[in-house]
Amino acid sequence: ALTLSKKAMAVKPSSTLAITAKAKEMKANGIDVVGFGAGEPDFNTPENICNAAINALNEGYTKYTPAAGSLELRKAICDKFKKFNNLNYEADQIVVSNGGKHSLTNIFTAILNPGDEVIIPTPYWLSYPEIVKLADGVPVFVRADKSQNYKITAKQLEEACTDKTKALILNSPNNPSGMVYTKEELEAIAEVAVKKDFYVVSDEMYEHLVYGDEKHISIGSLNHEIYKRTITCSGVSKGYSMTGWRIGYTGSSKEIAKLMSSVQSHQTSNPNSIAQKAAYEALVGPQDSVYAMKSEFEKRRNYMTERIAAMKHISAVSPQGAFYMFVDISLALSKTYKGQKIENVNNFSKILLEDYKVAVIACDDFGFDDHIRLSYAISLEQIKKGLDRIEEFLENLQ
Ligand code: PLP
Repeated sequence: ALTLSKKAMAVKPSSTLAITAKAKEMKANGIDVVGFGAGEPDFNTPENICNAAINALNEGYTKYTPAAGSLELRKAICDKFKKFNNLNYEADQIVVSNGGKHSLTNIFTAILNPGDEVIIPTPYWLSYPEIVKLADGVPVFVRADKSQNYKITAKQLEEACTDKTKALILNSPNNPSGMVYTKEELEAIAEVAVKKDFYVVSDEMYEHLVYGDEKHISIGSLNHEIYKRTITCSGVSKGYSMTGWRIGYTGSSKEIAKLMSSVQSHQTSNPNSIAQKAAYEALVGPQDSVYAMKSEFEKRRNYMTERIAAMKHISAVSPQGAFYMFVDISLALSKTYKGQKIENVNNFSKILLEDYKVAVIACDDFGFDDHIRLSYAISLEQIKKGLDRIEEFLENLQ
């Protein structure tokens, strides 16, 4: 019979893409919408990186490379891991894939058997549970409340462990909360992972975007026991403003790298050869554009933090990294607007979009149904305009 895959049908369509699409449609119809939905930097890919891609084309670097990525790029990734993350990997421990999302997909394909549990701290990036389920895993959610700065504790982690626990997904800096785990917090988490003997999938995609005095620490760098159990995942998408190029990578044990590479060799082969040359330049070339983008993000973060702190009915913990404000709207949900109760976060977002022309991300799909996410990967001018509108809406709540 013409039935479809139950696994594929169980996947939730991405809600972040849906709201962004609606806002785009309104914009196309001439409506002046401020979009706080962006999941990507608003800067162009730096020129030196684009030139490396042009050179690759001109030099005929347009053929298959090894499935796990060129040796040149994998060696550059090893150097980066050593210098930036204090992690020792050799080239055969690196797999380059079609973006961080693909790296994560490969990781779970390589480590999970049906029914294996993967602990996902909440709030989480909405793709994690879906990627885990597609690899036959079972997501287990551990809630990290606002009172704990949206970070799980080692104690919570240990309590969530069962004999089926296979891995923890750790995402620092975090999407959507912007929180960064400290060395002490990571040490405590690592201790549980070693004691209970499970993998840590450390998604460090936003590692370049950490503000103020905070520091990015890679959990795998803490000691040899946790290094063995950690698969470190990163990419060039966010730090180098290269989301469309689709290059992500992992550092892991040789055994896992071999499995991922083998799976990848059948499913997608190597990531785009030209994008690999561009990623190589991103990693080995001058880094000043990364610092320039980061300092712009930091200005916007500071501005948003101040503005939101002064608003009625909402509040946010100032993010330490990435480019998102995770905003608690629970007080606003108990209010009425034009005589009607707001009810839920989706209704809140819908009113904002329709009556105030501001697109935000409702975070129910990130595991928090009383929070919204505001991206600051848009210009300061747009941010000001959008926040003025949100403020006006909040003033109109009763
Ligand atoms: N990890 C996190 C936490 C993300 O937010 C994203 C992108 O939104 C990714 C991974 C994937 O990045 P890529 O565009 O390289 O697939």
